[in-house]
Amino acid sequence: MSVLWLAPRLFLNEDTVPELLARRTRLPLQHTQVEDMALVAGIKPLVLRELPWEGAEAQAEFFRQRGLCALLRASEKTKATSTVWLMAGRSEAQVGEVAELMMGGLPTTQDHRRLGSLLGYPPCCVNTFCEHPSEEYTRMEQAAARTRPPGNPWLNVLDPWVFRLISWEPCSFQCALSATYADRLEALLRPHFRSFLQRTREVLSGARLYLHPNVQLTLEGDVWDDGFLPRLVAPTARDREGVLPLTPEDEADVARALREVRAAQKVTCSEGQIFLDGRPWARGFLVRFRG
Ligand SMILES: [Zn+2]
Repeated sequence: MSVLWLAPRLFLNEDTVPELLARRTRLPLQHTQVEDMALVAGIKPLVLRELPWEGAEAQAEFFRQRGLCALLRASEKTKATSTVWLMAGRSEAQVGEVAELMMGGLPTTQDHRRLGSLLGYPPCCVNTFCEHPSEEYTRMEQAAARTRPPGNPWLNVLDPWVFRLISWEPCSFQCALSATYADRLEALLRPHFRSFLQRTREVLSGARLYLHPNVQLTLEGDVWDDGFLPRLVAPTARDREGVLPLTPEDEADVARALREVRAAQKVTCSEGQIFLDGRPWARGFLVRFRG
């Protein structure tokens, strides 16, 4: 279903879809590699990952060779997709407890809370997740509502496929515990990936117009009166990893949103609604980050 529900879907703009495709790049660093480095450096207590069977044993061995404990377990969920859970950490007891939780299928909120705590996620963020476990839009909207702009760019996880340092959704885009973790990780990576981190931070610093988890735009511009005056409007797809492309329908929505926001002078948001030049346009919200 189109998320731009206030007007019928228009035909694809021939100029904007190629722009989305051209902006997909292969990142020099994957989020999973960052998690591995955080674990090995002692910044993160434990990692949990769903992997294809092929190569999973080699991944587990990677951690064991670094003095960590690693387990592979197939649950009812992963048997259906021929994948397996990998859990690795410093404490054998904690890795075993995560394996037990995953085998049990996490039926209760208490299980989710315990898992979040074992993975080292801040309690404030775990609590927020547990309030709306299956509603990503609501969680992001609430995190935005708890943020007094500008938010911290390293906590900008609005687009789940853009590179990120933190492995969870923050309770607000200013969550102090999440920011401390991101700062430690950035300091660890900086000597090796300085320019990549700088560029990524710049991209994450733009204001983000959020219509749907897969339909978002990055805006640069000025805050004026009760609105935002965009000077530059870009798809966040420029940071997407090519292995996780958008559906053609989402791509069409992003292309159309790009075209319509670029044609507007002023973007305003009120009570979960976006207005372009004063006209109601779509359900969504805007979050500004520190440039
Ligand atoms: Zn938090």
